[in-house]
Amino acid sequence: MTGSATAYNWQFSDDRRLPVGTLYCIGRNYARHAREMGASVPERPVVFLKPPAAYLPSGSHLRMPTFARTMHHELELVVVIGRAGADLKEEDVAAHIAGYAVGLDMTLRDLQQQAKERGEPWATAKGFAGSAPVSSVLPASRFATNAVPTFDLRLYVNGELRQQGNTASMERSVEQLVAHLSSVFTLRPGDGIFTGTPEGVGPVRPGDRLHAQLGDFTDLALQID
Ligand code: MN
Repeated sequence: MTGSATAYNWQFSDDRRLPVGTLYCIGRNYARHAREMGASVPERPVVFLKPPAAYLPSGSHLRMPTFARTMHHELELVVVIGRAGADLKEEDVAAHIAGYAVGLDMTLRDLQQQAKERGEPWATAKGFAGSAPVSSVLPASRFATNAVPTFDLRLYVNGELRQQGNTASMERSVEQLVAHLSSVFTLRPGDGIFTGTPEGVGPVRPGDRLHAQLGDFTDLALQID
């Protein structure tokens, strides 16, 4: 189920390889998703982490963990950092991005709910092995280098459309998120950023086949076991 044969490398569509670093994830970055979770858009970005071993390339199988009952899909734009940076200005962010991908922030919703109620961290609920399936990475050089493009996102489960959105609906832009993360953590080449999910999150079960798309650029296949 995990990437032991793959050694946790981002797979660029131009065959470049970059080791997967820290995976930063943003919570509640689309207003309609915040509402479906019974919450609002936070005043400051909600940030949590997944370890590199959470990474799974497209075409992988993900086994439902035995220690949880409910695993949800969250469809997200993933930004891969190509140049180190701290205290970045928003206008300098695009030059630090190596590429864009579509990913699934797989979430053990029952464990996350328990953690929220108990005031405990989300590390298990969000960071378990295989919790970060990601498509091949579209090199940023395909776009104007001084701006971050917007993307359509779609997720099909067993052929049925379950989530769709456009990154233009994000409450905080990629530039704002990357600038913020760089000021708190310092970003390094190979770090990835899951930028939040639009509405429509829901459970997956063994046997489900997931197919996520980043516009017509790249896509992600995942089988739940
Ligand atoms: Mn998420």
